[in-house]
Amino acid sequence: MRFAAVIVAAGAGRRAGGDTPKQWRSLGGRPVVLWSVEALRAAGAEQVIVVASMEDRDHASTVFGGLPDVQVATGGAERIDSVRAGLAAVRPGVEAVLIHDAARPFVTSACVHALLAALETADGALPALAVSDTLKRADEDGVATGTADRAGLWRAQTPQAFRRAAIEQAYAAWPDGEIPTDDAAVLERAGGRVQLTPGDPMLMKLTYPEDFPMAEALAGAARITRVGQGVDAHRFGPGDGCWLCGVLVPHSEGLVGHSDADAGLHALTDAMLGAIGEGDIGAHFPPTDPQWKGAASDKFLLHALELVHARGGRVLNADVTLICERPKVKPYRAAMRQRLAGLLDLPLDRVSVKATTMEEMGFTGRREGLAAQAVCTVETPA
Ligand code: MG
Repeated sequence: MRFAAVIVAAGAGRRAGGDTPKQWRSLGGRPVVLWSVEALRAAGAEQVIVVASMEDRDHASTVFGGLPDVQVATGGAERIDSVRAGLAAVRPGVEAVLIHDAARPFVTSACVHALLAALETADGALPALAVSDTLKRADEDGVATGTADRAGLWRAQTPQAFRRAAIEQAYAAWPDGEIPTDDAAVLERAGGRVQLTPGDPMLMKLTYPEDFPMAEALAGAARITRVGQGVDAHRFGPGDGCWLCGVLVPHSEGLVGHSDADAGLHALTDAMLGAIGEGDIGAHFPPTDPQWKGAASDKFLLHALELVHARGGRVLNADVTLICERPKVKPYRAAMRQRLAGLLDLPLDRVSVKATTMEEMGFTGRREGLAAQAVCTVETPA
């Protein structure tokens, strides 16, 4: 089912304390709302709309700039106005919409898939947890006045999923001036069928200052680090220079290949694809395809980077080793690092280019060609 996600991030979030609204505060080194954006992208949302307040719009554009299929909409005074602004920005052709509160950073793909499955037979679905604690009533002095029956009570979480037409009609019919407590309530009022799916304690809502230390502890479990490695080699042939790590190195020969034969970029591209289990460079850019003849290999690297971003991931670091007797790499190492850091949009200290010879042994020792190895770490939602 084609689905989009609307993340409501326009609230002032004052109960959580601090000057910055809670959804823009840092959690595990990244803005709270970015966790949801990346998790929903990783779960398959074809479009993510973040609804931010007018004051936070520029900040939001900075945080999400460059993320594919993520856009920022401007929210209103009440949550309901923000949801309506988000729904209005959903692309044509999308069949289902997930509406999510930015203050719940730890969305899992399993949760999203259960919601979408529930939409096969319902107009709406939401994750809900059974109430396990006994519910007490108390007076203003904190003295117990009674015990409530918790049978049939559930704690509603987000994201809440809806068939698009059903939620659009329900919001159109919602009476002016009334404030719903969640989106499922809007659909319920319109007579829609709302299915509960298993909730997740990880979907905790950041509400009070004391919620942040708990969330910091969970942040470590919500993302995983993956390692990929790549190897490539190309033969020397006629020419007057070799492309290596995106830099043209003058040499008495060139490298033979279908593309520009940049073994450094090819090895690194394979390492990135390997880290996310996306096959290899040959599967994405077949050497039989004439459009890649003589192509600059930075295209391949940027494609792998897009795939990492599409899964809600980011590259943490990259390490490339070039193996050759000639050309001499050392004078160009700094330029290669700069070039890779630029392509990957990483600080220089996250990128390494090394070079070694094989002590005149083997095919690189005989100067028939050169080889490259690369290792790359990528962090993605768990
Ligand atoms: Mg190659």
